[in-house]
Amino acid sequence: MNKWIEMENKYYMPTFRRFPVTLTRGKGNTVWDDTGKEYLDFVSGWAVNSLGHCHPSVVNAINKQVNTLIHVSNSFFTIPQLELAELLVNNSCLDKVFCCNSGTEATEGAVKLARRYGHKHLNGAYEVITTTGSFHGRTLAMVSASGQIKHQEPYTPLPSGFQNVEFNNLEAIKIATSDKTCAVMLEPVQGEGGVNVASRDYLHGVSTWCKQNSILLILDEIQTGIGRTGKLFAYEHYNIEPDIITLAKGMGSGVPVGAILAKEHASVFASGEHGSTFGGNPLACAAAHAVVSYILENNLCRHAASMGALLTDGLAELKKQFSVISSSRGLGLLQAVEFEKDIADEIVLNCLKNGLLINRLKPNALRFMPSLIITPAEISRALEIVKRAIKEL
Ligand SMILES: *Cc1c(COP(=O)(O)O)cnc(C)c1O
Repeated sequence: MNKWIEMENKYYMPTFRRFPVTLTRGKGNTVWDDTGKEYLDFVSGWAVNSLGHCHPSVVNAINKQVNTLIHVSNSFFTIPQLELAELLVNNSCLDKVFCCNSGTEATEGAVKLARRYGHKHLNGAYEVITTTGSFHGRTLAMVSASGQIKHQEPYTPLPSGFQNVEFNNLEAIKIATSDKTCAVMLEPVQGEGGVNVASRDYLHGVSTWCKQNSILLILDEIQTGIGRTGKLFAYEHYNIEPDIITLAKGMGSGVPVGAILAKEHASVFASGEHGSTFGGNPLACAAAHAVVSYILENNLCRHAASMGALLTDGLAELKKQFSVISSSRGLGLLQAVEFEKDIADEIVLNCLKNGLLINRLKPNALRFMPSLIITPAEISRALEIVKRAIKEL
């Protein structure tokens, strides 16, 4: 057993299933472990490193800010926070921003915002309809919101106020809607829950239903946002305008940062009703501003769409070659392949051996989520390594 595994066993809570690799350095789409071995990174820190590792524009923005102002309290104005908010508003259908530190905090805050809206405009309605297989984070309320028994069962009793209904089933949302409902919260593509893409009809239908019933549509774009699906926000694929969206993961390309964005009418927090010590701090916002500007200025959404198309074709080709692959699916640079058998762990280990980091989505599925600066050559190399890993089973 190596030293790092021993230290983990001794000092760290065993919450993560870790593969036996200790990463020490990254550049672009490559990372190196403590033995100097090189890997092509198709995990991206769980869809976080949108500009790959240590991108010069992010490093420069952080360096500049770290020597200027790292943190002050939110009782003062700070420039990076306001510049980030302006950039997000100018490039989305939303009007107001609240910054936080993580995805969970963004969705939890979005639910608080929806409840506030319910108190003010919907006779105290407080219930949020969410979907089975969804993932909205790890706080108790977000575990309750996420429609996955495995995350809920160890922590009962859970906070109430959520109804989990079947994904991609508009009728289920209609049936669950009552005078207690203040919002529906969905991922346009369920990420952690299996890379399940919302159908066009479904999201359209949900959007229309929410409008007809004067309830809010919250889209959790923590995984799909900031270019990953080939548009800056996944809602753009559907030609709808949500009332609230949540962001985190890719927005800081590795720096912890999250945000709630709301339309003017849904932006109902008054002074003192929500807050955060670290949320929107100058360091995190300078990084996020650098990431979002770089993506916009370099047309990386379009690049993600074309690289996503290459990946889709490559995975479809792979499916033709191996009968053990039952399906492939996804949107842009968020894709999955599913197998007939529970072989994902073995494939991940074979890929590691051959120099590829890839995510085990489920016992029988892999998730592909490379950075937005991935190249055609790197996609081919990843597909070759996966192919070899299946052959070596
Ligand atoms: C990762 C994720 C979250 C939780 O984000 P954290 O930063 O881990 O708290 C919430 N929703 C979605 C869709 C996610 O992918």
